[in-house]
Amino acid sequence: MPELPEVETVRRGLVEHVVQRRIDSVELGRERAYRRVGADRLIAGLVGSTVVSVDRRGKYLLFALDSTETLMVHLRMSGQLLVHDATTPRPAHTHVVLNFANQVEVRFVDPRTFGEVVVFGPDDAESVVPELARLGPDPLVDTFDEMVLRRSLVRTRRALKAVLLDQSVIAGIGNIYGDEILHRARLNPLRPANRVNREQTRRLVRAVVDVLNEAVSAGGSTLRDAQYVDPQGRAGSFQERHRVYGRTGQSCVTCDRGRIKSASIGGRTSHWCAVCQR
Ligand SMILES: [Zn+2]
Repeated sequence: MPELPEVETVRRGLVEHVVQRRIDSVELGRERAYRRVGADRLIAGLVGSTVVSVDRRGKYLLFALDSTETLMVHLRMSGQLLVHDATTPRPAHTHVVLNFANQVEVRFVDPRTFGEVVVFGPDDAESVVPELARLGPDPLVDTFDEMVLRRSLVRTRRALKAVLLDQSVIAGIGNIYGDEILHRARLNPLRPANRVNREQTRRLVRAVVDVLNEAVSAGGSTLRDAQYVDPQGRAGSFQERHRVYGRTGQSCVTCDRGRIKSASIGGRTSHWCAVCQR
């Protein structure tokens, strides 16, 4: 499932193709992809508008339009945004197509259809996308430091891994990067959040920012299912640098002493080394 680094890579791959370009028309397929607003609202909100910027908060892509409305895309499990020439055959599971001038198409493709394409304006943002107002700081966009993180950690005894996945605490971290970040910070995913001291909080902040930035530089992680690709169809390479995610039973490449364990924490399978993560 795309997390912050994958969504940021998608954002960067879209900018040059859509910013300052006008959406001439929209083609809609499977309704589930735009279930939140429906076809009429989506078409009325998009056609004739020019994209002013492509932004991101957490795992949400936000296209600011010159009409003051916003196009939001969430990729969820298997969504892709692909930039194609109009003459390129459309892949299976293409649910929404934005037609720009010069035959450029942005295609929302999503085999599992958990992803969403939504349009909202200043007046209906609160009712249409209430989750945006509840997002915590995005580590690469907003102020994210020891003080910000500590405020969230001291309040809860929940396992550290579950807290990292809570989008109202930090926006953008999912299961893969949650595991890799805790490994980098040498913290056990089961440790209660309120038992993380100042020095460990500092390490955790550093690990969040460093791991996410490194993953963005690598174009994100493309797992064996190969569902995540950037708008040009290219896979990421950060999966080659995963140290714990998906490595259950292998020896730890960091300390060379532990074996990678896995267990379900907050409903997600977590991976860690009990020797170097305390
Ligand atoms: Zn280890």
